[in-house]
Amino acid sequence: MSLCAEGYFLSVQYTVSIVDAAAHLVDVLMQVSDPHPDGQILRLPNWIPGSYMIRDFSRNIVSISASCQGAEVALEKVDKSTWRAASCKGELQLSYRVYAWDLSVRAAHVDQTHAFVNGTSVFLSAEGFADEKHDVVLHRPQHDVNNLFRVSTTLTAGTVDSAGYGVYSAENYDELIDHPIEQGNFKQLKFDACGVPHEVVLTGACHFDEDRLIQDLKTICEYEIRFFGEPAPVDRYVFMVMVVDAGYGGLEHRASTALMITRENLPVIGQSEVSDKYLDFLGLCSHEYFHTWNVKRIKPAAFVPLNLAAESYTELLWFFEGMTSYYDDLVLVRTGLMDEKRYLGVLSKTLTRIQRGSGRLTQTVTDSSFDAWNKFYKQDENAPNAIVSYYAKGALIALCMDAELRSRSDSDVTLDDLMRAMWENWQATQAGLEEQEPQRIASQLVKADLTEFFDPVLYSTDELPVNDALKQFGIDLQWSPRLSSSDMGGTRADDHGEAKALPAAPWLGATIVDASGGVKVMQVMRGGPAEQAGLSAGDLVVAINRLSVSKADVDHHLARYATCTELPVHYFRLGQLFESQLPLLPAPADTAVLSVAQSEKLQTWLTDSARVGSNEGVSGTPAIIS
Ligand code: ZN
Repeated sequence: MSLCAEGYFLSVQYTVSIVDAAAHLVDVLMQVSDPHPDGQILRLPNWIPGSYMIRDFSRNIVSISASCQGAEVALEKVDKSTWRAASCKGELQLSYRVYAWDLSVRAAHVDQTHAFVNGTSVFLSAEGFADEKHDVVLHRPQHDVNNLFRVSTTLTAGTVDSAGYGVYSAENYDELIDHPIEQGNFKQLKFDACGVPHEVVLTGACHFDEDRLIQDLKTICEYEIRFFGEPAPVDRYVFMVMVVDAGYGGLEHRASTALMITRENLPVIGQSEVSDKYLDFLGLCSHEYFHTWNVKRIKPAAFVPLNLAAESYTELLWFFEGMTSYYDDLVLVRTGLMDEKRYLGVLSKTLTRIQRGSGRLTQTVTDSSFDAWNKFYKQDENAPNAIVSYYAKGALIALCMDAELRSRSDSDVTLDDLMRAMWENWQATQAGLEEQEPQRIASQLVKADLTEFFDPVLYSTDELPVNDALKQFGIDLQWSPRLSSSDMGGTRADDHGEAKALPAAPWLGATIVDASGGVKVMQVMRGGPAEQAGLSAGDLVVAINRLSVSKADVDHHLARYATCTELPVHYFRLGQLFESQLPLLPAPADTAVLSVAQSEKLQTWLTDSARVGSNEGVSGTPAIIS
């Protein structure tokens, strides 16, 4: 906080009112204590940290006005998200109305049942006040006549009532926008992890095994806290969950995460078997919680200070999303929440996903990170051919790094040690990570130059050395043709534990969906049969070999004519009928089939948690100071 010339503290206060929930409108009264004498600049972020796309949240400000001591103050629009209030003496008041109807974890969603807001959607920043205290006053919505609503947020509570309505504060603007706020008649579950109070706040109708969820989340949180070392970097944490009929995603924050899941993702009461969808949800929680250390605190230097007006370019998303994606499921195995077979299934999916897209041969993982703003976050029909995911490839790089560090150090150094070294560095310096720092720290840990390992995996489109890495962990990887268009690989073990070898059936080389009269082409794979037949995204295929088609029977259809060299295909493009020949080509061997070759090695890798929670291991990590 700073003192202004007159001797009182500079501050910004926002009063947030849900004025018309049915119309999804939020009114904000913003009070700026001591506006700039030459006129006050006010700006709404164009993006939200953790989601690397320009979203122009200001487009949802439907009206705005300014006043000072009861007199109107002129507001000049400087650009799409910036205003300048004319010079005035005394407290500047901004009144603006925000339209909030974005069903996602990235913006704001308000109706009669609840109000979820991210600060980036509703809190204008006042230039020159970034490091000052920001207060938020929350009023109970008028339509909540039965007083059912409560507030959940990790903003610091000041004077609030038993439902949480009242005053909250943040030490600066960056903190203000990093604590989403939920209001509603939500379900609130509480648990403790390593002495830190945790909550799960669920909005939306849901009926599930609550004890199981909090027990499993406690297991995950305690593991991750001990992984990096106690004490936890938060004194309170909230999993803020919107439960919907369709939708999925999560966004990390410094002391909370906003999640969107379906009811199917929650554990069923009385069902002891763990469903894949519940494991997906636990993996999502594990992922976002890991970000509490890896990206919310350890972060790219390019994000320090945060510039929310424009794109912030970094090649490091392969590290922040890749490491986090590697550990999200690994933590589930290490804590016994996922068994070995299922883990190999998840791993084979990641391998298959990367292998299927020729984008891996077009874009490097560091380019994918740098261009996240206009490529990864703006994927179109050509994405599989042009883009490689820094999440999936990053996770496979993490796997290869883990193997490389172990083989270079006689298993003395693992990827766990790298993450802990990063954390120790951050605690010592709080500095952002320079673009090539992961390689530098990894090299220091094993006292070897790892350029030959890192250069091809990060800066080229060469295939990753996953085969060797998996072999080191006791796993055999074979590439097989897909059994069907929905086959993403797995263990495919027979009764004797050996992976089945299967013959290749013809494939279409395109993703399709059912449509009226046939199937609609969504994506065409580079060099595949569909591309050779001249098919494009958007085409409506009405017949193959003069027979009608649906998504469910295309595979069978092609398999039945496997001995032919080509089949006539009829399709509509822009309403015009075309005919061409679809070559019948065997599906490529792009499906990962994993089998356990050396069980002991696999166990060592999957249960490598001996040093977690023991001071010996953590203090034994070589100290790296940036
Ligand atoms: Zn993430």
